[in-house]
Amino acid sequence: MIITKQKELQEILKFLEGQNKIFIVGCGECSTTCKTGGEDDVKKVKDALEKTGKAVTGYSIPTAPCVAAKVKLELSKHRKEMEAADGILVMACGLGIQSVKENLRTDKPVHVGCDTLFMGAIDGKGEFYEKCSACGDCVLELTGMICPITRCPKGLLNGPCGGQDKGKCEVDKNMDCAWILIYNELKKQNKLHLLKEIQKPKDYAKMTKPRQRVA
Ligand code: SF4
Ligand code: SF4
Repeated sequence: MIITKQKELQEILKFLEGQNKIFIVGCGECSTTCKTGGEDDVKKVKDALEKTGKAVTGYSIPTAPCVAAKVKLELSKHRKEMEAADGILVMACGLGIQSVKENLRTDKPVHVGCDTLFMGAIDGKGEFYEKCSACGDCVLELTGMICPITRCPKGLLNGPCGGQDKGKCEVDKNMDCAWILIYNELKKQNKLHLLKEIQKPKDYAKMTKPRQRVA
């Protein structure tokens, strides 16, 4: 899931300066779960914009599989409301925002309503955690399914830095040391021998951007 955070209203209002009629695009998937671009969130932003004197001509919440894939169809359903607007505010991740821009078929300005933070997992309390950095060469098989690239702030591949204290990371004392978690997990699985396999320096060329996977 792509984790987003809504921008402050003041920042959004700066983007919308000189534009009085706004159409809002949300996201029925990740941004709904993050409470940044679902129907309730879009309605709150709509109310907030209207209180500042702006008119919201309409809104759209593209759904599964992803705002980026559904945006063309959704925008065509709302063409009239969009045409009545001076600008389009997108309450979705950077991928969704760019997809709206690419599929708009008008020169109307598109604006950013959310900051995109990371690819994350959600826990039972509704909190989000980064657990994978899409490095392009997964090592989870060797690390008890705990990612050292992402969950160790130093991205160490061959064991802990030595700074852990009672299992907590020296970079953030509230966070478990990823390598202690890895050790405990491998021990549980009777796979501690995997720690003796020295990992070569990571080939970060596999993360050179922009990446693509074609069929
Ligand atoms: S090693 Fe970590 S960052 Fe790389 S693909 Fe696997 S989980 Fe993602
Ligand atoms: S204490 Fe553990 S998680 Fe923190 S930087 Fe060192 S090895 Fe990585």
